[in-house]
Amino acid sequence: MRRLMLLGPPGAGKGTQAAYLAERYGVRHISTGDILREAKAAGTPLGLLAKGYMDRGELVPDEVVIGLVKERLAQPDIRERGFLLDGFPRTVAQAEALDRLLEELGMPLEAVLNLRVDPELLARRLTLRRSCPACGAVYHLENRPPKVEGVCDICGGALVQRPDDAEETVRNRLAVYSRQTEPLIAYYTGRGLLVEIDGEQPIEAVRQAIVEVLEPAGR
Ligand code: ADP
Ligand code: ADP
Ligand code: ZN
Repeated sequence: MRRLMLLGPPGAGKGTQAAYLAERYGVRHISTGDILREAKAAGTPLGLLAKGYMDRGELVPDEVVIGLVKERLAQPDIRERGFLLDGFPRTVAQAEALDRLLEELGMPLEAVLNLRVDPELLARRLTLRRSCPACGAVYHLENRPPKVEGVCDICGGALVQRPDDAEETVRNRLAVYSRQTEPLIAYYTGRGLLVEIDGEQPIEAVRQAIVEVLEPAGR
């Protein structure tokens, strides 16, 4: 399968698994969070618009993110390599727009992988997350520490805490998830696409569970 979505609350491990899957299968990782953070860092009009929402832990308006994804999905490498959506859609309106878009493009979704993790554990993952702004790599102070404290294993960049991973903002993001994104579980269950993955397992075990969905044994 090459047309995939990772669904799950903030901190569920979507970005961590997506990086691996993109490397292993060559599918294109489309992370709206990464696109928006890059725009923010570069100070583009998109970044300036997104900044306030992101720093408060709120969602950027639907039209804005739908436009971004539409542009990315229309590029030719997507048809060749497939895609892995991460952090999009986050509202039912986004999911409906995505359905229409993929239908127009003739590239329907094949599976939605829902990473399930208890909210207490999510808060702990997010507040101890550290990220590399230079290359996007993601670490965790306890679960996945870098080899040298504060330094990215991959590019040597300095690791930072995302401003929205501060404790107060994390609480708001988890509430926004329950209110606006969780309904997508029912949405994709109804379309027969949802696959449940236990996201509380260690990183390697989650990875293995996903690989088994993508490459069923005996096929
Ligand atoms: P998301 O993209 O869903 O917000 P991330 O992939 O950034 O989540 O993971 C959130 C934090 O939890 C990161 O610090 C990451 O290193 C850590 N993490 C990811 N998956 C696991 C896991 N299965 N077990 C423990 N920690 C994890
Ligand atoms: P995480 O997976 O850790 O929750 P993301 O990197 O996916 O974080 O998103 C960070 C922020 O970017 C969100 O809190 C939100 O402000 C904005 N964002 C990302 N994707 C979307 C989206 N699909 N719709 C609206 N806002 C988004
Ligand atoms: Zn790096």
